[in-house]
Amino acid sequence: MTYLERLQLRDAPPADEICRCLGRTPLHLRYEFSEFPLFCTDCTGQVFPSALNLSEDLAQELISWRTVYAALYNLWLDSADYETFARAALLDPNGDVNRRGLALASRLNEQRTTYYWWFRDNDGSAAEHCPVCRGPMTEHSTRRFRFCHSCRISC
Ligand SMILES: [Zn+2]
Ligand SMILES: [Zn+2]
Repeated sequence: MTYLERLQLRDAPPADEICRCLGRTPLHLRYEFSEFPLFCTDCTGQVFPSALNLSEDLAQELISWRTVYAALYNLWLDSADYETFARAALLDPNGDVNRRGLALASRLNEQRTTYYWWFRDNDGSAAEHCPVCRGPMTEHSTRRFRFCHSCRISC
């Protein structure tokens, strides 16, 4: 199986969870349990691998980031012995998973504007300041998330 095949969605998401926006809306690189970790920032819907021009190399990078992120995310969700470790790793601006995620988002950004979704803890509110540059975050016009346009981070 090629890396690109491994990014294809195994189960079609419900129709109302698929992005149907016209035009090239910006994307979130965001792990949400699906095979393909890219979502529309406008409607929050799932985007399909066919929306991008993915080389095997880029597909491999996406899978390796997704695998590590999913492992940490699941440890955090498991709320047992490794929860604190996983939470700290997901929030660490210098941690491997976030450095790789940011590098990946910036590669994807060459094709279509891509923001790296920053891990949010349980409270569900968007951060006031960017976790990387500490600058103020800009609110989305309608959604409950914010952006740091210079770091291309969103949460
Ligand atoms: Zn959309
Ligand atoms: Zn920033």
